[in-house]
Amino acid sequence: MKEHELRKNATCAICGEKTLATGFPLFCTVTIKQYKIDDGAIRRQAGMEMMMGGSVQLAQAMGADETMAKQVDSKKIIVCFNCVTGKQINIAEQLAKGKI
Ligand SMILES: [Zn+2]
Repeated sequence: MKEHELRKNATCAICGEKTLATGFPLFCTVTIKQYKIDDGAIRRQAGMEMMMGGSVQLAQAMGADETMAKQVDSKKIIVCFNCVTGKQINIAEQLAKGKI
């Protein structure tokens, strides 16, 4: 990471502190990908499974191999060493608050 990238990524998305303020020269980037389940595809696959006598393997081989979940969003966040190692993070809450 070059100097300008380091400056751009200097703030922790969880606690809002500077990543190097922890006194430990490590931080993480975390990519959060949100997926939405495709109800129709799930129902079709479950139906195929029932037709195949409950065999998941047969249903997979005979089915349309549809995408069951589609990515709807992706975010890369910076997390300081303290937050990575010391806190339980509620990602959904952070997303809802617009913190990340
Ligand atoms: Zn932090």
